[in-house]
Amino acid sequence: MAFNQQAHRDLLKELEPYKARLIAVTKKKPATEIAEAYAAGQKDFGENYVQELDEKRAQIREKIRWHFIGHLQTNKVKTIVPYVSLIQTIDSFKLLKEVNKESAKAGIITDCLVQVHIAKEESKFGFSEEEVEALMLFPELSEMENIRIRGLMGMASLTDEKSQVKKEFLGLHTLFTNCRLMSMDPDAFDTLSMGMSSDYKIALDCGSNMIRIGSLLFGERR
Ligand SMILES: *Cc1c(COP(=O)(O)O)cnc(C)c1O
Repeated sequence: MAFNQQAHRDLLKELEPYKARLIAVTKKKPATEIAEAYAAGQKDFGENYVQELDEKRAQIREKIRWHFIGHLQTNKVKTIVPYVSLIQTIDSFKLLKEVNKESAKAGIITDCLVQVHIAKEESKFGFSEEEVEALMLFPELSEMENIRIRGLMGMASLTDEKSQVKKEFLGLHTLFTNCRLMSMDPDAFDTLSMGMSSDYKIALDCGSNMIRIGSLLFGERR
């Protein structure tokens, strides 16, 4: 299945009252479909794998804002730092330090989101709520001049139980509000990335201002 232009239009309209941003998730989808979505006005794209992102980027000339949304290994940081617009999946202090180091080398400041583990499943990466609050108050953070923490990102449990998903998203929104108060740069701490194809409506109602949508726009992945 190709890029669904009607679904894209409908989503954008649905997002308007929430002032939320749409990230088109294109893992396992070819560069041609990214180009189609770009032509329809979509500028922000999310990818999960460094090599796949790097290959597609080489095939596409458009000025895309790339979001990294997969588990990022420290040894791959230097590959994407020069061009990535937002790393949404900072899941360890070690990774944050590496992004800061490579950004300093490149002479840039990299925008990051801290990934929070809110789901029941154990497989999901990310900080616990307590760890995020501790991170925000870490003295070393103020010395990291080449990263800017723009907010939080999280994935809810894979369940049909809407009340559980809602509980997790509301919890992340509360954490987001608390962390903004602790942030050294509260005005820049403005992004709460939560919600995917199956649960974005719940996420928006719980205060999300960035949703990451794949299958709804590009069809199921193989
Ligand atoms: C794959 C993925 C998405 C998109 O998922 P869909 O269910 O296809 O909308 C969003 N966020 C992350 C982190 C993903 O890995």
